Amino acid sequence: MQIETLMVGPLQVNCFIVACEKTREAMIVDPGDEAERILKRLQAAGLQLKLIVNTHGHFDHIGGNRLLVEASGAELLLHQADLPVLRRAREHAALYGMSVTASPEPARLLAGGEILEVGELRLQVLHTPGHSPGGICLLGDGHLFVGDTLFAGSVGRTDLPGGDHDTLVDGIRRQLLVLPDTTVVHPGHGPDTTIGREKVSNPYVGYNS
Ligand SMILES: [Zn+2]
Ligand SMILES: [Zn+2]
Repeated sequence: MQIETLMVGPLQVNCFIVACEKTREAMIVDPGDEAERILKRLQAAGLQLKLIVNTHGHFDHIGGNRLLVEASGAELLLHQADLPVLRRAREHAALYGMSVTASPEPARLLAGGEILEVGELRLQVLHTPGHSPGGICLLGDGHLFVGDTLFAGSVGRTDLPGGDHDTLVDGIRRQLLVLPDTTVVHPGHGPDTTIGREKVSNPYVGYNS
């Protein structure tokens, strides 16, 4: 699994290009903004885009959807519970004085439990609501893409519509902290971390919380 991180947009979202080294097929996780730059990176690396996955529908994670779908024909995927969030992304952004390109409708809606195939890579979809109703994580090859569910030393905010702190913490404990300590965690904002590090040091979900 080949992973490249691009920080995009005013809210500095981590957009991940995840590629199969054998087939040169790729998935993009959270193309929040700067779609032209993401496309250039794909072309420079000789990658063929197959899937675009939004970890959730918040505006800072979806702004590049339209251009990337139109340029590549890749399939756009989102959890079904975040479809209303995705559809309201422009209004939500306006509340913050920002503008975002509206997303096309997803080609396929996820429910959790699916296995996404990108070349020879296999990534499992975990439904982890709480930051938003349809928040998901993607797990494969010792890597975990968590969107705004979990951060290094923190967890996602839960004061936005559909957010719920207890649900978020419960999902992190039951589905994420049970993974091997060496699992590399790639959050939607800020630095990478590992499951082992969050278990001992995260003040919201760790052993000492
Ligand atoms: Zn978010
Ligand atoms: Zn975010």
